[in-house]
Amino acid sequence: MNTINFCMRCGGKLEARKDRENKIRPLCKSCGWVYYENPIPAAACVVLNEKNELLIIKRKFAPNAGEWALPSGYMEVYQTPEQTAIDELQEETGLIAEIDEFLGYFSGPSPIYKNIINFGFFMKVIGGKLQAGDDAEEAKFVPLDKLPEICFASHRYFIEKIVEKH
Ligand SMILES: [Zn+2]
Repeated sequence: MNTINFCMRCGGKLEARKDRENKIRPLCKSCGWVYYENPIPAAACVVLNEKNELLIIKRKFAPNAGEWALPSGYMEVYQTPEQTAIDELQEETGLIAEIDEFLGYFSGPSPIYKNIINFGFFMKVIGGKLQAGDDAEEAKFVPLDKLPEICFASHRYFIEKIVEKH
């Protein structure tokens, strides 16, 4: 059941043991460190232009390299979901935006991690210039009825949410 074999704190060997809540978790035999496996939090950006076209990016790296998705990324430990969305949008598309509306969250399996929780934000652009960057190979606005296949279920869910409203 272990997805990692060694302690991240001391390098000791992990062993499946019951913790204080009686749940089986990988526990370090040397220092007692417990490996809690949690979903990875992420944020995704939904941006429409004045023509009601949706901003999408072509992914440069795995997972799903070469496929289309919303600008998005995993949260760093010092970020809020909102800040993650703002930073990822700027890094991947060059656009500076503020949060307009929280669209909800999507909890589900991920191609890399077992489970993610993705926070979706509808965002309003306040500056910057559209230019693909960071892990986006291409960034463009596309009419909602001409969208290519979007590779992540969480992103499709947020797009559906915004289509219902616009
Ligand atoms: Zn240890």
